[in-house]
Amino acid sequence: MGAGGSVNKYVYEFTEGNKDLKDLLGGKGANLAEMTNLGLPVPPGFTITTEACKAYLATGEEPEGLPEQIADSLARLESSMGKRLGDPSDPLLVSVRSGAKFSMPGMMETVLNVGLNDRSVDGLAQQSGNERFAWDSYRRLIQMFGKTVCDVPGEEFEHALEEAKKAKQATSDLDLDASDLRQLVDVFKTLFAKHTGREFPQEPRDQLDLAIRAVFESWNADRAVLYRRQERIPADLGTAVNVVAMVFGNLGSDSGTGVAFTRDPATGAPGVYGDYLANAQGEDVVAGIRNTVPLQDLERLDKASYDELMSIMARLEGHYRDLCDIEFTIERGKLWMLQTRVGKRTAAAAFIIASQLVDEGLIDLDEALQRVNGAQLAQLTFPRFDLSGEPEALAKGIAASPGAAYGKAVFDSARAAEVAAGGEPVILVRRETNPDDLPGMIAAQGILTSRGGKTSHAAVVARGMGKTCVCGADDLEVDVVSGKFTVDGRTVDEGDVISIDGTSGCVYLGEVPVRPSLVVRYFEGDVSPDDDALVAAVHRLVTHADAARRLRVRANADTGEDAARARRFGAEGIGLCRTEHMFLGDRRELVERLILARTDEERQAALDGLMPLQRADFVEIFQAMDGLPVTVRLIDPPLHEFLPALEDLAVRVAVAHERGEDAGKDEALLAAVRRMHEQNPMLGLRGVRLGLVIPGLFAMQVRAIAEAAAECARQGGTPRPEIMVPLVGAVQELETVRAEAERIVAEAGVSGIPIGTMIEVPRAALTADQIAEAADFFSFGTNDLTQMGWGFSRDDVEGAFFPRYLELGIFGVSPFESIDRDGIGRLVRIAVDEGRTARPDLKIGVCGEHGGDPESVHFFEDAGLDYVSCSPFRVPVARLEAGRAAVHSDGSDSR
Ligand code: ADP
Ligand code: MG
Ligand code: MG
Repeated sequence: MGAGGSVNKYVYEFTEGNKDLKDLLGGKGANLAEMTNLGLPVPPGFTITTEACKAYLATGEEPEGLPEQIADSLARLESSMGKRLGDPSDPLLVSVRSGAKFSMPGMMETVLNVGLNDRSVDGLAQQSGNERFAWDSYRRLIQMFGKTVCDVPGEEFEHALEEAKKAKQATSDLDLDASDLRQLVDVFKTLFAKHTGREFPQEPRDQLDLAIRAVFESWNADRAVLYRRQERIPADLGTAVNVVAMVFGNLGSDSGTGVAFTRDPATGAPGVYGDYLANAQGEDVVAGIRNTVPLQDLERLDKASYDELMSIMARLEGHYRDLCDIEFTIERGKLWMLQTRVGKRTAAAAFIIASQLVDEGLIDLDEALQRVNGAQLAQLTFPRFDLSGEPEALAKGIAASPGAAYGKAVFDSARAAEVAAGGEPVILVRRETNPDDLPGMIAAQGILTSRGGKTSHAAVVARGMGKTCVCGADDLEVDVVSGKFTVDGRTVDEGDVISIDGTSGCVYLGEVPVRPSLVVRYFEGDVSPDDDALVAAVHRLVTHADAARRLRVRANADTGEDAARARRFGAEGIGLCRTEHMFLGDRRELVERLILARTDEERQAALDGLMPLQRADFVEIFQAMDGLPVTVRLIDPPLHEFLPALEDLAVRVAVAHERGEDAGKDEALLAAVRRMHEQNPMLGLRGVRLGLVIPGLFAMQVRAIAEAAAECARQGGTPRPEIMVPLVGAVQELETVRAEAERIVAEAGVSGIPIGTMIEVPRAALTADQIAEAADFFSFGTNDLTQMGWGFSRDDVEGAFFPRYLELGIFGVSPFESIDRDGIGRLVRIAVDEGRTARPDLKIGVCGEHGGDPESVHFFEDAGLDYVSCSPFRVPVARLEAGRAAVHSDGSDSR
């Protein structure tokens, strides 16, 4: 409520809004207003704000002033149209349309033809001179209103419609005439009354108010909640409601409805793409009820409307400086624009279009960088099918969302989720999808449909999720009831493996092998930007990101091979070289001897055995990263992790005893494992604690590092090792290790090896000023910092209760995936501030997996870190996001 009892403004005419008011008016409302202000032919209407929705959802009632404001706007709409809502002789009809800030295709509700009733249907017939049209509109109202406002099962209406067609031996809804539709209206009204216990509401204003409430409530429908979670859309935004004067595409063959894109949303190719359906209304065009024609055919059907549409689309692209998608309707030769927005696109199209728009002078490179993101780049690194084995092609559909996916064919959403939960890859096969299929689509590797085009529900949602999709493969006879499809006399049953190629539209029988993507081959150096348009666009934008970014990007790599790959992918050093693997394989034997040693000599002998092996490992890594920094972390996990499992040892010892044999070493190992057992290894004897408790262990590693550096330098290289001590919580720990390390490094005759620490224990972050006195650098171990900060262990909680936590909205995304800014991020900021205050030249990075997470990279930029480090394959993602973070200073939404 506003101050002083004044009432909020909850309703905006289209003439009052603009495209920047998405928070308040939703995307649809803001863009309808923008088009209205551009002078485009938009039917008049008004938008009820997201604030009104939030108020309604909080209290269950329309907020004060809303009903009156709706009445005022409706009165203005009526006078501008010269008709009254539901007037029996010449009714104004309206649509009631949901529209949130972020587009949620098909997730919420829309009701068309509001204002029709038993009397006004006659008025509409008279005014239009088309009785069939009037009854078609009325049956649609009862159907949509029943389903979305009153929860009448939609199938019952569809079933009744099918029956009506069958009775006339009709194949299309167009074959039903006015009297068939009039009868259908009676059937629909009976269905309505049966399910709701009351008659279909005849009062137009009641219809309007109920529909508005239903749109508000649809914000919390299961499928909308699920979609938001999947797309990481905040749950508290609410939806706006648009009330729009109806225009009619179902008035005959000179009318129709369509959808279009200003460029190909799958490939980014310039040109106009779309589908058109004559004599149809609303979602008919995407619902696959009849076959659409390509938009180009409209030129033949209605040249004047086509030309006007082309010029409007060109104008919209220029205005929004981006690919737009639109919905339009033609009513008896008059074109109406019903929706536009900056359109969703595939990852490949995003890069190609951004680069094209730079060439066309519509945007600059900084802006182009905002048009793509790391998640999309990651998608482009997914493998593609290797067709050299000539797999058996079953069919070809429309390549709706690229990628290569194989899995068991499953024909039902719930079943798909079940099979996928069992760890099996699934391809969800449907005739067409609708919002109820969402759980199955999320669970599946890919989606295959036999109906619908590039703008069908399956295609739009799959592109949004970055999921492989082939749609409209109309050779497939899909039988969801018995769980099979047939094509060319072949049958594929549930559980049979198929492969779908979302780049070519091909469907194959069996599992087709995959090969690396062109983009990966580009980063590997095997493909040049001149070879391929997508590679060229990626090259251009990643290169610009490199020029723009402040953050350095390193990789987490443990071997020479990984280091070399990371370098090819653009890593500027290694931020985390784990040394655990240097104790594995044949070397376990030495580790066992180390643990079982009874004397200093035995222990030293085991360490002396390990030293040259580790030195050779380091030489390989330093050579691969020659000239670039390599942060080596001293051994971190508890030593007993290197011993055989307790159960195995116990069995081996028992068996030996049974046979009367001497269990020998196993017995000693068993005793050691029992002795070293920890209730909670994560919080036990590991990291720096090991180094302080086991004499000579860290010393051996430091010597191996220093001598390896000396050797590389002797061979003419420029090794730049950095020694990192894990799990420090108190400066005294680091001081002790540091003193010994400095002595050993000096003995090896090397100088200038920085010694620093991980910041991964909360106490370290909170005493960063002290720790900085003994550290040349900090590196945030955000995995452990998250575990210890929250007090839960990743391995134990991700399966156990995270799903419930996500459901409850306790966090929107796992804090292991994306850094928890408020809590763990606060620890990071404290440590950065205090560390730099104590030591201004302190170098600070992050080496947890968050270093490759797009959202987190933006946080680390903001927190002033020097570098992020992530797995080699994520390096290009981090480069791109670091560049985006650097130019992204206006805080605008990058979604
Ligand atoms: P969605 O958000 O699912 O796209 P819309 O609100 O855009 O839902 O509406 C569903 C369908 O109804 C769309 O095809 C749209 O173009 C059509 N439609 C909406 N309002 C009108 C109207 N006033 N006149 C004619 N068709 C309309
Ligand atoms: Mg809708
Ligand atoms: Mg729409």
